[in-house]
This record gives sequence, C-alpha cells and structure tokens, in this order.
Amino acid sequence: MKKLGALLILVSFFAQGQIKHVEPPFWWADMNHNQLELMVYGDNISQYTPSIENGKITLTDVKRTENPNYLFLDLDLAKADVGTFKIDFSKKGKHGKYTITYELKQRNEASKNRKGFDSSDVVYLIMPDRFSNGNPNNDSNLNVTEKANRSDIGGRHGGDIQGVINHLDYIKELGATTLWSTPLLEDNQDRGTYHTYAQTDVYKVDPRFGTNNDYKNLASELHKRDMKLIMDYVTNHWGSNHWMIKDLPTYSWVNQFPGYANSNYRMTTQYDTNASKIDAKYCMDGWFVREMPDLNQRNPLVLNYLIQNAIWWIEFANLDGLRVDTYSYGDKEGIAKWTKAITDEYPNFNIVGEAWLYTSAAISYWQKDSKIAAIQNYNTYLPSVMDFTLQEVLTSVFNQKATWKEGMVRVYENFTNDFMYPNINNVFVFIENHDTQRVHQLYNGAIDKYKLAMTLIATTRGIPQIYYGSEIGMKGDKNVGDGDIRRDFPGGWDGDTKNAFTKAGRTAKQQELFAFTSKLFTWRKNTDVIHTGELTHYIPENNVYVYFRHNAKKTVMVIINNNQESQTLKLDRFAENLKDFRSGKDVLSEGVFDLSPKKISVKGKTSLIIELH
Ligand code: CA
Repeated sequence: MKKLGALLILVSFFAQGQIKHVEPPFWWADMNHNQLELMVYGDNISQYTPSIENGKITLTDVKRTENPNYLFLDLDLAKADVGTFKIDFSKKGKHGKYTITYELKQRNEASKNRKGFDSSDVVYLIMPDRFSNGNPNNDSNLNVTEKANRSDIGGRHGGDIQGVINHLDYIKELGATTLWSTPLLEDNQDRGTYHTYAQTDVYKVDPRFGTNNDYKNLASELHKRDMKLIMDYVTNHWGSNHWMIKDLPTYSWVNQFPGYANSNYRMTTQYDTNASKIDAKYCMDGWFVREMPDLNQRNPLVLNYLIQNAIWWIEFANLDGLRVDTYSYGDKEGIAKWTKAITDEYPNFNIVGEAWLYTSAAISYWQKDSKIAAIQNYNTYLPSVMDFTLQEVLTSVFNQKATWKEGMVRVYENFTNDFMYPNINNVFVFIENHDTQRVHQLYNGAIDKYKLAMTLIATTRGIPQIYYGSEIGMKGDKNVGDGDIRRDFPGGWDGDTKNAFTKAGRTAKQQELFAFTSKLFTWRKNTDVIHTGELTHYIPENNVYVYFRHNAKKTVMVIINNNQESQTLKLDRFAENLKDFRSGKDVLSEGVFDLSPKKISVKGKTSLIIELH
C-alpha cells in the first residue's frame, strides 16, 4: 500500500503537466554509488528551485543546461535511510510550488557481492523477438509504432519475455547456464525495431516484450534453475526517437558534426599512434547509423546517466552480468569510467564488451589491466572480451586441408597469442553470434563440422557462447539480410508446424545435433578442469590438433581430427601431459581407450575428449 501511495502522488503530480520524467525513478540506500544525479524533466522546470528538507540527505548541487526543460539534482545519499523523502520545487507566482516523493529502496542482502558469470558457465544467446511468442496479445502495442508482421524478415515477429521463460528448461537441458538476450528496452523507432539496439527509453522494457517486472521475473526464473542472466547494454548510442534525443538536454549530449555523420568503423584509430585525428574522431564520435545518435560519454551528465541506468538495472532485475554493445566505439576515457563505476559497485560482477577487432593484440587491449593498453596509460576496467580472432578462424577452418598456413594450425596459432590477455579464462569463445554468418550456413549443414567446432569451444579456455538454433541445425544467410540469421525458432509460435523445443518435434538430424550439444555442455558444466585448468597444446601435424586441459586433480586430452580420413597418432610425443595415465574414457562416445600401445586412432572429421585415468 505504501508503494501505491507513492505512485499516486507521482501520478497526480505528473497530471499537472509539469514533470514528465524523474530518472532514475527510484534508488536504493547503502549503495556505493551514493552521490546520485537525479534528472528531472518537465516544461520549464529549470525556472524552479529544488530543495530537500531531510537531515540525512543533502542537495549538493543543481545543474541547469541551455534547455529549460531539464534539471539535474546532485544528492548526497551517504547517510540516507531506506524510505521516501520529498523534493520541493518552488518559484514565485502562479504554480509556485510542487513536490515529488522519491523512494530509496532496501537492497537485497547479497547484492553488492553478487557473482557474475565466469568460465564455469555456458552462455546461450537469443534474440527475443525470434525465440518464442509467449504472449500473442502484446505483439503490437498502441504506444509504439511498429506492429507485428511475421512475414517481414526485418519486421517484428512477436517473440517476448514470456516466451523465453516458457523455454528455460529447454535451455538448461542443453547444458547452458547463462542467458544472454539481445536488448529488451523500448525501441520505438519506426521500423527494424526487433533487434532493439536503437532504444528510446532506457528505463522501460519494450511493451512488445513485456514489462519491467516480466524482466525481473525472467531473472528470478533463471536463478531458480541455478542459471544466470546477462543484460545486453548499449552505451554507445540511442535511437533517434528517444524522447531525450528529441528534446536534447544539452547540445553536447550527443556527438554532433553538427548533427549526423557516420562512423568509419575503424576501431584501430582508438589506439593507433599513427592515426590522423580526423579519422579517430569519426570512428568514436560518428554515429553507428543515422538512426542511432552517438552518445557523448565525455559529457559528465551523459556519463552519470549511463552509469546510474546500468546500476539501476543490475539492482532492479538482479542481473548476473552485462554484455556491452559496440564497446570500443565509445569515448575511451568515458567508457572506462563507466565500466569502473559498475565494477566498483559490484566487485565480483562480470561485464563482457564487444570489441570486434581482428588481432589478439587489438582485442586484448580492451581487457582490464592490459599491459598493451598500459603502454598508452589506458585501462578499460572491462573484465571480459570476446575472442573474435578465434571466431574468424572457425568460419572456415573445418573446410581446410593441412598446409603450412591452413587447417588446424590456424586454431593453434590463435591460442599462441593467449599471453596478451590479462585474464584468458574470462574471454568469450564462439563460432557465431547474432551479427555473423550462421555455422550451419558456413558448413552447409555438415553435422561433423558442427561437432568439431562445438567440441573446440566447449573444451578450450574461456566462456563458450552458443547461438540459439544452431543446436537444431538452423541456417540463415547474412548476405540475404540480418533478419535471415535471426529466424524464428521452430515451435516458438502457436500454430508452428514443427516444434523443435521437444524431442518428439525434432527431425532425426535435429535430435542428433541437440543430443550432441546437450551431452557436451552438460559434461562441461560439471568438469572443473575445463573451467580453470591449464591449456597445453601441441603443434598440429597433418590437420590434427591435440591439447590437454589439466590441473592437479585431473587431465583431459582433446584430439580434433580435421581430415576426412582416420588418423593414428603416436602418443610418445605427448608424454609431457600423458605422464603415467594408462587409460582414458571418451566423453562423447563413452568408449574406453587403452593407452599402453602408445598410439591412438581417431576417425575422420571426429574428435575425442578423453578423461585420463
Ligand atoms: Ca508476443
């Protein structure tokens, strides 16, 4: 009832037309981030003088911009208690005083020390519009422009949060422990909104996906299953229809040339000491596309807004991690401050950033405490990055014959650069994501090549990330359009003729893929040595890659044979890791191998994952 009361006060106040937004809409007591910058938006609100009569809360500053519709209130909440307090806005004359009630909630006890995802996890990536439609009634909504049209490859198809919740047991059965959903906050652009990277209100879940409480419920349902939730966060840009973009708080809220100029996407300019200033500026400050104005993280008001918004979602929805879109496109210093503020609030949290670069040196530059970045006195504070160089190799390697430069030696060479990464276990490993060609398109549906690729990402160092639908052989061609690599999961919609969420609904091939994936990742989930053990690998000979994951308690030998023909390996070469082990059991076939003959045979285009005894 108390909450309802506060809500009614706000509603009745808003009804007078003076204040339309107060953000963050509430906060919590006992936060590390206890110097809150409250943004108040309303017609000519800057003419008012705010004040707070509360012995434990100090209004330390009031900031005004050239736009009279905004006020920024700096509050010192270090001594504040849980509960509500009043903020008065006064001026001389008619409508001389308004009051709003602001709430500081009680934090969850374990909030500060929440542990983020790590290398014991397997991440399952979905696009919620394309996964499952749990609530056909929200497919279109009066308050947002784009309506559902499932026949349009780039349109909205109706998938939503309830659809995801309905299939969490399916995701768990696959051996995944963590869900990464692409963004869910309001994207009220005119079209192409299904991907939701052009957000228009970052305190509100898009009504076509559900409500803020539905999102909180998604996290809760995952936690009940001992699973985790990663939010996809966009620091670089908003949608051009964002209500604040339409009435900019200040000219420099977004990067202007003036207005739009496109990014050149050359992220190397962020650290290239030979780069011209103009190239670097257009990379960082240029807009990702015309419909996505580029946020200026150099402006402290913007930076604070983004920091508080991210913390608000972590605390509100009880998140286990963030994935940050276009991480390396933001202002370098700004994005580092943003990342540090969040990890200062949650020291054990994890954040993975999209730094889509083409060398290990360039990618590792963006990971926290990089010695390469330290050459330039730079530190992102970003705990986790993505192994895009491995991903690039995996797009073709299983079609390659062995040469000096091609075949499994390319995979091997990727891992020879691991020393550059400050924390190699905190790196995403993946074949594909929602922006790349699908694995079954690359390999034309070849089951054996899929299995080799999955074996590799399941057993090498890092955090495996799998993309929805590959476990049932979904294809899709990026050359047709991004929508084609984001097709609807069969069975996600009422009336679908096939339902691949159930064993009975899968074809024999789909079931083979699903069963393999599930067995592999469920084993990985329970095998510590794969999470944190050392990796020792051997130079591939004739397109066969051999490596070991090992710690004091356990050793696992992985053999990936990328030839069509069976291969027999002499084992003497691997004595360094085989030590006194005499036998082993293959995780996939459950076949037992006697190692005493000092040789082992591996069939063409298959792998062995041998737990040594
Ligand atoms: Ca729906």
